Parts: sequence; structure tokens; C-alpha cells
Amino acid sequence: MGSIERIEAVAQKIAGFRARGDDVVVVVSAMSGETNRLIELANDISGSPPPREMDVLVSTGEQVAIALLAMALEKISCPARSYTGAQVRILTDDSHTKARIEEIDVHRMQADLSLGRVIIVAGFQGVDADGNITTLGRGGSDTTAVALAAALQAEECQIYTDVDGVYTTDPRVVDNAQRLERITFEEMLEMASQGSKVLQIRAVEFAGKYKVPLRVLSSFEEGPGTLITLEEGEDMEKPVVSGIAFNRDEAKLTIQGIPDTPGVAYRILGPISEANIEVDVIVQNISEDGTTALTFTVHRDEMKKAEDVLAEIAGDLQASSVVTDAHIAKVSLVGVGMRSHAGVASQMFGTLARHNINIQMITTSEIKVTVIIEEKYLELAVRALHSSFDLDAPDSVEN
Ligand code: ASP
Ligand code: MG
Repeated sequence: MGSIERIEAVAQKIAGFRARGDDVVVVVSAMSGETNRLIELANDISGSPPPREMDVLVSTGEQVAIALLAMALEKISCPARSYTGAQVRILTDDSHTKARIEEIDVHRMQADLSLGRVIIVAGFQGVDADGNITTLGRGGSDTTAVALAAALQAEECQIYTDVDGVYTTDPRVVDNAQRLERITFEEMLEMASQGSKVLQIRAVEFAGKYKVPLRVLSSFEEGPGTLITLEEGEDMEKPVVSGIAFNRDEAKLTIQGIPDTPGVAYRILGPISEANIEVDVIVQNISEDGTTALTFTVHRDEMKKAEDVLAEIAGDLQASSVVTDAHIAKVSLVGVGMRSHAGVASQMFGTLARHNINIQMITTSEIKVTVIIEEKYLELAVRALHSSFDLDAPDSVEN
């Protein structure tokens, strides 16, 4: 919700659901840009504001939004009540700024629903056992919504976003990307974690775990959106590859020339993990001279930190050098159809080869093939793969 007009439009939509007889619990996020604005304020004071106070601060964005939406509903004679996470009692652990929901008290909400009220809950926030305000991490309102839907055993959890569904890939990169009617939780997790930032990953995990049907729709236009469920569609012609995810968020680090002895990977990745740096793709190679090189990717923001860790252990490991590269991109083909089809990886490599795109790293899972390539080839790679795997919209013109 970006403006008072938008809040009023949302209120109309909610009143429409009520008029059809649905019980409605609405989770709202802060008004557009608000969370970022609050974070900037904190950063103007301190480079490392106390996480507890960060949560007190950033949770205000949602508190403003719920009150305004409840007022807009009351104005159109739709009874509504707003609640903060603490008021509902969305109990979380105490990991400030990235708390996890432990329990939700549904009593107050159920009492309100039985009185015919619409309930508006502040997304992204909860309260720990000591009464401290916590937040769930950026995009956390999605997780609040799914968790409430699970706790209330809702028929469906609808997530209204600025896109009208989940696409085969980012339509900003491929014009003829198509909206998917449905996708499985598993595929969505791969699409989301690979950078299709439609939904918070944790929300999808949660929905999968509690089997909450999730629908992603546009806040601005009518349409069916994309349904995220447990099962694949009935469609026999379902493509082997459902979508292509990609991101530019990662950086690659290589530590090389290390005498190859058991435990090398552990001695490198142990300290990286102790420094709380998440590692994504890993490749280890042995060269002819008997030394080994380990290459891995981390979030780009953490490259410097990871480089410092490597610099510190390089001496002990007798490594010859540490090399970093922030100009990489990751591209993944995702599809549950891969389980029953061979040849996806080779078709992918063939397509990239024909476009002269060098593959730097490869990793696969049951429903995914991922490559790391040079960042400047990202768009070319995604477009080529999208058409090679028949994902282009049917009415698009071949070129
Ligand atoms: N307002 C929070 C954020 O910007 C939560 C959300 O939007 O889901 O990250
Ligand atoms: Mg959001």
C-alpha cells in the first residue's frame, strides 16, 4: 500500500470478500518504502544499531498501516480491528531482526471473527517470551500471513504483490515469460531462493510444511494469479522445466595451491561458517601438481568478510593465493519434471555452449540444475535457455 488511495482500494476489496460471506484476516506490510526509510534513520545514528531497538523501530511501519486500513474499513461500515503481532500474541524466539514464529494464539482472532469483524494484523512482527518486539526478516509479512492461515486453518492464503503471479522467469529480462497457473511448493522454493523475489522463502517453506495453499496475485489488477500447492498440475504436457531463476547477488572466492590433505574443505569452510557466512555453490578441484583449490560462492555483501577469513587461514593451509570475483551470476533451471526426464543438464550446457557462454561452476539437485557464469552474459543465457526449454509464451514471435 503506497498511499491513502491504495489503502482505501484495499479496504474496498476486503469489504467485497466480507460481502460474499468470507471470514477475512488481513496481514499488512508497511506502506511502500517505509521500512527502508526507518532502516536509514537507524543507520544515520549508528553503523550497528542494537537489534532489539531495530525491531522496535521497524515494526512501527506495519503498526501505522494496520491502523489506517482499519479506519478505512470502518469508514465504509465494515467492522474491523487492528492488532500488532504482540497483541495477537504471535510468539517468536528472541533472534531480533530474524525471529522465527513459535506459536500463534488464535483465540482473540476467532472471537473477533465470530463477531463479524475483519481482523487486520501487522505483518513481519511478533513478540518474544519476555515481551520484546521482534521482526521476522525482510519480506516477513508473507510469513506472518502463511503462519496465520495455518493456525486458523484458512482455505487459502492469498498474497497480494506488485506482480500478477509467478512467471517462468523474470519478465523484465525475458519479454515473453509466461505466468504459471500453478507451481509446487518445492519448485517455488527453488525459484524464490534462486532469486525470483516474489515471496519470502520462509513463507513458502512454512506453507509447504503446513500444506497451506498459497496464491500469489496482483494488488492492482484482477486475475487468477499463481497457485502454489503440493501437487503438480494434471497437465500431461507439463514441461520438464517449469522456470528459470537467476541472481546477481553472489560473489565467488577461490583459495588455491593448497597441499591436498584430508580435512582441507573443513578447515576452509569451518571458519567461514563460524563467521556466520552462508555458502552456496562449492567446487573443489585437484590440479596435476597435487595441490587443491576450493571455490565457493557467498552473498556479494559478504565477499569482503569471507575474503578476510580466507586471508587469515591461508598461511596455515599453505595456500598460494586467494582470488575473488564479484562479477558472477547464477542461473538455474527448475522443474519437478526433471525427476523423470534425463538430458536437462546436457541440453542446458549445449545451449550455453552455442552462445559461447563459459560455465564456471555447476551444481544440481533432483529438481534443479544451476550454473555460475560471468555476469555480463546473464541476460543472454536466460533468454537462450527460456526459448530452448520451450518456456516462451505461445503467441510470441520467433526470432
Ligand atoms: N515491511 C517489511 C519489509 O519491508 C515486511 C514486508 O514487507 O513483508 O521487509
Ligand atoms: Mg512484501
